Amino acid sequence: MKKASGAEVGQTPVKSRIARMVDRKVEDFVPQGTPLFKPDGNSREGRIVPEVVVTYGSRKHLARNIIKVLPKMVSAIKNRSAGFRDLKNNPSASEAGKHAEPELFGELEEFAHSLGCERIGYTKVPHYLVFSNYKTLSENAIILTIAMDKKKMGKAPSITAGREVWRTYDSLGSIVNKIAAFLRERGFAAQAGSPLGGEANYPRLAQRAGLGYIGKQGVLISPGLGPSQRIATVYTSIENLPLTGTEANSHAWIAEFCESCNRCVDKCPAGAIYKEKPLIEDGGPKHIDHIKCAMPFSKTMGCSVCIAECVFFKGDYEKIKAGFFKR
Ligand code: SF4
Ligand code: SF4
Repeated sequence: MKKASGAEVGQTPVKSRIARMVDRKVEDFVPQGTPLFKPDGNSREGRIVPEVVVTYGSRKHLARNIIKVLPKMVSAIKNRSAGFRDLKNNPSASEAGKHAEPELFGELEEFAHSLGCERIGYTKVPHYLVFSNYKTLSENAIILTIAMDKKKMGKAPSITAGREVWRTYDSLGSIVNKIAAFLRERGFAAQAGSPLGGEANYPRLAQRAGLGYIGKQGVLISPGLGPSQRIATVYTSIENLPLTGTEANSHAWIAEFCESCNRCVDKCPAGAIYKEKPLIEDGGPKHIDHIKCAMPFSKTMGCSVCIAECVFFKGDYEKIKAGFFKR
């Protein structure tokens, strides 16, 4: 599928007020002298969800619908801003703890679950998964997921599903800020990575952490949750994270399953999901044409047809897996 440009969908990419509000960079907030983890020559450009929607979405529908999700959207953006402001509370690079006792991770996970997190994973970020227009506090990443309400997401495309999309952006944004504060209180440096997007490729990091596998629609698919989940990260100075992923991801069979499924490709109202995924700068596949996706997304403030129609949304992961390996 040919990559669309802004002109092809009749919009001029104008930076909106919302886009400027979310365009924050870690280097503007960390204590002076903090070394940052950088992208490399293979990194792709990163985008923030509200920025894409207001830039390429339908202005007519945005004007009509944004009010329906506005409280959660504003709160999600405020959480993102607070996450950046809180970076000034980090210990200096020389004072930040680098080694955590094993008990800390138990306490951290208990705290994260008490806040509503579904799963927690740990991985090292490779440079090429940091977006070319951002930096992160470090390569040490804690990956957190929360569930999206299946009943509400099953109504996609609708404002009901759109509200659930923004509820989870808001809720997880608040959670990562609290996890970052938890780590700072214990002497570690931390950066809350907003679920609205930003510094690094979250689905790829979650896949590296062994939490699931990326489906054809570009969404992480996991046992229990299927594609009905939201992902965010916390970057930290802790170097001895108990890494949860291995080279052999036990969910990798999903990629082969998707090749014979293509249901989301057929159901996407914008034809935005690539059937044959082009490879891009970082060596990974491009799943979605985000410019085409923005139009239906703006109509219901969340679209999510590719989540609700995914075989793993409707069916049970283990049963689908058993059927796949019986073939
Ligand atoms: S959110 Fe909607 S428009 Fe975007 S890729 Fe999924 S189905 Fe297509
Ligand atoms: S609908 Fe099918 S092809 Fe699309 S992500 Fe789900 S399993 Fe993969």
